[in-house]
Amino acid sequence: IERRANIDYLTGLYNRKKCEDDLQQEVRRANVTSSVGALLYIDLDDFKNINDALGHRVGDHLLIEIAKALDQITGVDNVVYRIGGDEYGVLVPTTQYHNLEKICNRIVNLFSKSWEISEKEYYCTMAMGYVEFPTNGTDAQTLLQRADIALSYAKEKGKNRIEAFNEEKNADTVRRLDLEKALRDAVADDCKEFMVYYQPVVNVADGGEPKCCGAEALIRWKSKGFGFMNPAEFIPLAEYLGLIIPIGEHILKEACLRCKYWNDFGHPNYKVNVNLSVVQLVQSDIVDTVARVVKTTGINPANLTLEVTESLAVNDMEAMNKVLNGFREIGCKVALDDFGTGYSSLNHIRSMPLDVIKIDKCFVDGVGDNAFSDAFVKTVSKLADVIDVNVCVEGVEQEKQKEALNEMNIQMIQGFLYDKPLPQEEFERKYVE
Ligand code: C2E
Ligand code: MG
Ligand code: MG
Repeated sequence: IERRANIDYLTGLYNRKKCEDDLQQEVRRANVTSSVGALLYIDLDDFKNINDALGHRVGDHLLIEIAKALDQITGVDNVVYRIGGDEYGVLVPTTQYHNLEKICNRIVNLFSKSWEISEKEYYCTMAMGYVEFPTNGTDAQTLLQRADIALSYAKEKGKNRIEAFNEEKNADTVRRLDLEKALRDAVADDCKEFMVYYQPVVNVADGGEPKCCGAEALIRWKSKGFGFMNPAEFIPLAEYLGLIIPIGEHILKEACLRCKYWNDFGHPNYKVNVNLSVVQLVQSDIVDTVARVVKTTGINPANLTLEVTESLAVNDMEAMNKVLNGFREIGCKVALDDFGTGYSSLNHIRSMPLDVIKIDKCFVDGVGDNAFSDAFVKTVSKLADVIDVNVCVEGVEQEKQKEALNEMNIQMIQGFLYDKPLPQEEFERKYVE
C-alpha cells in the first residue's frame, strides 16, 4: 500500500506526495544542522506536441527514458520525482548541496542530446527552476510553488534554461496577480472604479482665437487596492485579459452621455473623442456595439470621434477599413491616433477612411527647434489637406511650439499648454457652464 501511495506507475519514480514528504524532512534536517539544500523543478517543453504528433506510446516511452536518466545522476539517485504529467522534481539534499552546480549541469547535458526511442532519435528540451531551503521557504508547499515560479522565469528565457527563485521577481509576479484580481473585481463591480477625464481639444483653424471644441476622453482607475492609476499602468493587462472590452464600452457610454449633455446645454458642436483598443476593434460586433451605445445615449453620432491606432492595420488593412467604414456609416468620425509612431505608413493615411490624423507628441516636442519635426508636421498636414482630413497635434506644452504650429495649417491642438486631462466636473466648470 505504501508503495502504491508513493510511486508513479508509469516511470517508477516517486510521486509528488513523496516529494513533499521527503522535502519536508530534508528542510527539518537543514534547520537542525544549519545547512542548505535545494529543490529542482523541471518541465519538458512542448511535450503535448510530442504526444499529439508521435502518439502516446512514444510520449510515455520518453517520460520513462528521462526518468531513468535523471535517477542515474550521482548524488541525487533515489530523490528524483515525477511531480506532474511532464514535470520532474529533484531534491538536492543538504549533504549534496556543494554539488548543486554539477548536478544542474548534468541535467542540462542530458537534454542537449537526443533520446533513442524504438530505434529513432528524438530531441526534447526543458526548463528548470529551483529553490533553496530554508532560505526560500520552510514548508514543502511553499517551496514547490516557488520552484514553479522560478520555472516560469526560466521558460520565458528560452530552452534548457535554469533559473533560481528570486524574491524580487516573486514580488512582481504577486503584484501582477493582485492587479489582475483587482481589475477583474473592478469590472465585476460595474466598472464603478473607472473614471473618465477630459482633455480639451482646442480649435486653432484659420489663425482664429483658440477655442475649445470638445474633449478627448481618457480613462483613469481609482482602485481601492492600488490607488490612482494611469492607463499605461493597466490598459496592457486589461487588453491581455480581454477586460478592455467591458471597460471600453463603459468609457464609451460615459463619454457619449457627457457629450450629449454638453450638446444639449449650450455647446451643440462640442465633440468627444474616445480611444478604442485594438482588442476592441477586432471584435466582430464592434460596429454594432458602437451603434447601440450611440442609440441608447442619444448622442449625435457626428459628435463622436473614435480614435484608433495602426497596430492592427498592418496585419489586415482590409478588415480594419471595413470596421472604420462601419463607424462612418453610423455617422461617427474616425481619428488615427499617435501618428508617426509604431507602424505608421504614409500609405495608410491614403487608404484608410479617416476624418482626423493626430500627430504624436514625440514630433511636437521638437517643433520650433528641430528641422525634422517641423518638416514632419508640415508634410503630414499638407498630405492631410489633399485628402481632406483634419490634423490634430497632441502634447503641445510650450508657447513657442504653438507659434511654430501657427504656420503649418493645423486645425486642432491638444496639450498641457491649454489644459491637462481634467475630472469631468472640473472640465464642465471650465468649458461647459
Ligand atoms: P493617447 O490617446 O495618445 O492620449 C494622449 C495622452 O497624452 C494622454 O495620456 C494625455 O494625458 C497625454 N497628454 C496630453 N497632452 C499632453 C502634454 O502636453 N504633455 C504630456 N506630457 N502629455 C500630454 P494618458 O491619459 O495617460 O493616456 C495614455 C494613453 O492611454 C492614451 O494615449 C491612450 O492610448 C490610452 N487610453 C487612455 N484612455 C483610454 C481608453 O479609454 N481606452 C483605451 N483603449 N485606451 C485609452
Ligand atoms: Mg487618443
Ligand atoms: Mg495620441
